[in-house]
Amino acid sequence: MAIDVGFIGLGIMGRPMALNLLKAGHRLRVYGRRPETMQPLMQAGATACTSPREAAEGAEVTIVMVSDTPDVEQVILGAEGVIHGARPGSVVVDMSTISPAATRFMARELAANGVEMLDAPVSGGDVGAVNAILSIMVGGKAEVFLRVKPLFEALGKNIVHIGDNGAGQVAKACNQIVVAVTIQGVAEALTFARKNGVDPGKVRDALLGGFAGSKILEVHGKRMLDHDFKPGFKTRLHQKDLDIVMQTARELGLALPAAALVMQNLNALIGSGDGEVDSAAVVKVVERMSGL
Ligand code: NAP
Repeated sequence: MAIDVGFIGLGIMGRPMALNLLKAGHRLRVYGRRPETMQPLMQAGATACTSPREAAEGAEVTIVMVSDTPDVEQVILGAEGVIHGARPGSVVVDMSTISPAATRFMARELAANGVEMLDAPVSGGDVGAVNAILSIMVGGKAEVFLRVKPLFEALGKNIVHIGDNGAGQVAKACNQIVVAVTIQGVAEALTFARKNGVDPGKVRDALLGGFAGSKILEVHGKRMLDHDFKPGFKTRLHQKDLDIVMQTARELGLALPAAALVMQNLNALIGSGDGEVDSAAVVKVVERMSGL
């Protein structure tokens, strides 16, 4: 059944996700901060809006896919925010990766206006967004999750209701710990091979079949071999995610030494002007430290 959907944020992830919802037959009202980003969606049948508020008007579900916690706060709670357009009984779904604590706060603010909220961050990258095979980690009420599930099914494959508001963002933070530490491991292994005069491409081929095999070795390992760091997942967004992880860990008195180390390498990458490239470029930091 076709659902009226508001969609805000048309970047690397948001644009293909919005297109997949249109392909699945849903009606979309889109908002992109730069008007030109709405063009491909309009050509595919979406209605362009001039603010997040307008995109949420008349929508049963409003999806947000922007960058960072302050951006989601502005889009949802700001002067022209979703909260001023969303009708009581509708659902706001934030699919960006942001702070679990801020998520719980926004869910309470929306609830005070009779609007439901789900946090539903994703994993799977731009490739997963284009091919509608994202992993989606959902926080919020179970009955609200079931209402929105048909939309999630147009965007992803592995869709898990984790728990209450914020639980989806906690799951995503866990995902980013594993991804960051694995990227670092792959970068070190491929650099080790090179420094030994051994073909790192052949090493990757061999490792892919064993216990060291992973999606990161496959996708990011290839980017490292080719030194092709077109994003993908921008380094500054990966730094943002580890910031969320480290801040939450600090509040909880939790030690995450491996994630903290990768954070330093992302800082170094950004300091070298590589904030907008794919975070597989961590290999450049490892190579520099090793004289390559
Ligand atoms: P992106 O390409 O940088 O796109 C972000 C979009 O959000 C841009 O279109 C930007 O508008 C818009 N935006 C940012 N702040 C805004 C604001 N205050 N008001 C209105 N629009 C705003 O980033 P992305 O890769 O699509 O990532 C989006 C989210 O998904 C992030 O939270 C990221 O961590 C998460 N994520 C990304 C990946 C990935 O592989 N890329 C994977 C999983 C999750 P402008 O065009 O005007 O800047």
